[in-house]
Amino acid sequence: MVTAANTPSVIPRDAHCISRANISENSLKVLYRLKDAGYQAYLVGGGVRDLLLGREPKDFDIATDALPDQVRGLFRNCRLIGRRFRLAHVHFGRDIVEVATFRASITDAEPHHDAILEDGRIIRDNVYGSIEDDAIRRDFTINAMYYDIRDFSVVDYTSGLQDLQAGVIRIIGDPEVRFREDPVRMLRAVRFAAKLGFIIDPDAETALHNFSHLLADISAARIFDETLKLFHSGCGHKCFELLRHYGLFAYLFPAAEEALAHQQDNFPLTFIAHALRNTDDRINSDKSVTPAFLYAALLWEPLRERAAELGEEGHSEVLALQMAGREIISRQVKHTAIPKRFSVPMREIWTMQPRFKYRRGKRPMRLLQHPRFRAAYDFMCLRSRSDDSLKEDCDWWTQLQEVEQPEKLVVPAKRSRPRRRKPGRKPQHKST
Ligand code: ATP
Ligand code: MG
Repeated sequence: MVTAANTPSVIPRDAHCISRANISENSLKVLYRLKDAGYQAYLVGGGVRDLLLGREPKDFDIATDALPDQVRGLFRNCRLIGRRFRLAHVHFGRDIVEVATFRASITDAEPHHDAILEDGRIIRDNVYGSIEDDAIRRDFTINAMYYDIRDFSVVDYTSGLQDLQAGVIRIIGDPEVRFREDPVRMLRAVRFAAKLGFIIDPDAETALHNFSHLLADISAARIFDETLKLFHSGCGHKCFELLRHYGLFAYLFPAAEEALAHQQDNFPLTFIAHALRNTDDRINSDKSVTPAFLYAALLWEPLRERAAELGEEGHSEVLALQMAGREIISRQVKHTAIPKRFSVPMREIWTMQPRFKYRRGKRPMRLLQHPRFRAAYDFMCLRSRSDDSLKEDCDWWTQLQEVEQPEKLVVPAKRSRPRRRKPGRKPQHKST
């Protein structure tokens, strides 16, 4: 089990690959200003990890011994945010550099000695600490290294560099305790393993298998954010496989897991896999993606099954899809909150699917002009990859978008035949 060493390893500048050229200019400004004012200032977390791996960091976080108010005193463009954990945000136009004061984990410190209660609510429970305290409250050893702006060395209290070189995701402390403290760490372990191609340390793996149910206690809003980080990481398919392997997926998408459990001919597994790989490809080539599409794909099979039941009860195809869509979404939001801006297009993508069958009359041109056409069409093409009977529809709609005069492809509407008069009935004259 990893605990902090009192004396950290210090990797000097010439023994690691982090260069200031790869650190954002604004982060460097903040680090230098803190240092010049006599404070300790370090780059920490994912930024250091990614730089050591030669990858481009998503963001740069800074840790310091200056208190939030002291940080604010140094920068004109600084705002303090967060009620429970006060963080300083230094603004440079649209770029924000986050500065956090070294914190200790609450369980290690005197119980809540800095907690202030207001009407029973915790409004501040910062427990400030030393850099060593700050290191051991972090999740994984590879996320707990500090780049010191004073001498450009890397300070490592938890043998993070060793794990980075060996490709291991290792929890700091006892995995069970750390997962109980914050079950989202289980999802983070999977995300980093997928993203970096690392293995998860066996102790943590055992804890993942045993404590996946703890995810049920996390707020649906936080889980939604984490699912997007997993599935929009550019390695969403790998994340999906690992989530299922560790039994975590069932706590995120129970309806989808159930459909996967009784799948036939590899459906919906291949369909979900295609959707995730498609999203990965788009992200890795800098194309836009929307959670609505992915969520629509993950829940498509449960939706179809429910719609089929409703169809058997006598509802029309479209109505059955609409009713099933509402039900499936209201069940899913108990696990992952889905903001309306995503659930509305999800339902549109679903209910537009039967409309791709119609190639006659005004219907195709009307569908083509629908604001959600593109997403619904992409979805239908995705379906066609695991359902041969849709291939022809997919080709026809692709062609319709490519030809100069799409109206010419559309089959004219059937003429409605003049009604036959019933024998013996007189023709009725309109009274005008
Ligand atoms: P990335 O930004 O690439 O997703 P990251 O490691 O930077 O990865 P962040 O969410 O930006 O992840 O968090 C920054 C750092 O804060 C982490 O590297 C880790 O040290 C710490 N951290 C984040 N979330 C937790 C958590 N749930 N428990 C403990 N430490 C955490
Ligand atoms: Mg980060």
